[in-house]
Amino acid sequence: MRYYAQPLSQLIGQLSKLPGVGPKTAQRLAFHILEMDQKDAQDLANSISEIRDKLSYCSICNNLTQNDPCQICSQHKRDKTLICIVEEVKDVIAMEKTGEYKGVYHVLHGAISPIDGVGPEDIKIKSLLPRLDENTSEVILATDPNVEGEATAMYISKLLKPLGVKVTRIAHGLPVGGDLEYADEVTLSKALEGRREI
Ligand SMILES: [Zn+2]
Repeated sequence: MRYYAQPLSQLIGQLSKLPGVGPKTAQRLAFHILEMDQKDAQDLANSISEIRDKLSYCSICNNLTQNDPCQICSQHKRDKTLICIVEEVKDVIAMEKTGEYKGVYHVLHGAISPIDGVGPEDIKIKSLLPRLDENTSEVILATDPNVEGEATAMYISKLLKPLGVKVTRIAHGLPVGGDLEYADEVTLSKALEGRREI
């Protein structure tokens, strides 16, 4: 990168930190940005800086939002007695795309993974408990169908059992070892439909 002018090598360096972007792609993107018209390049730069300034996490469900509470938590027609637990914000989007789910969410921002040193206190489990009361009809565990997702689902289910809350786990149709966000809408709808009590 020493061949490039400093601002250009700096941009290439920043772009290559993005997931799935290798040095060659970063270089191509940087040259593309250099050739963009001034306004488009400025809009891109503004979007990047605003994403951190204007977005925060919903104080109820931990979803990413511009307003607190988020759009889903503040919707009156949503069934607040039904809480679907997912690992990431991307999973909320995947679930929303199915158009089937009418409840609310709780985003954990991770999954329990002893190998990676991630314990229950490292993800947003604690803030789930105050959300549960006698009106809670069901908690759906929609963590990923992999080792970490299963461990997290088991932990939460054991935690909630003494509270007498109905806890279900989506299962049917999802490939084991998979990632919720990559499941297509039909598979995810079926998984939601075929959830079983645990
Ligand atoms: Zn929310």
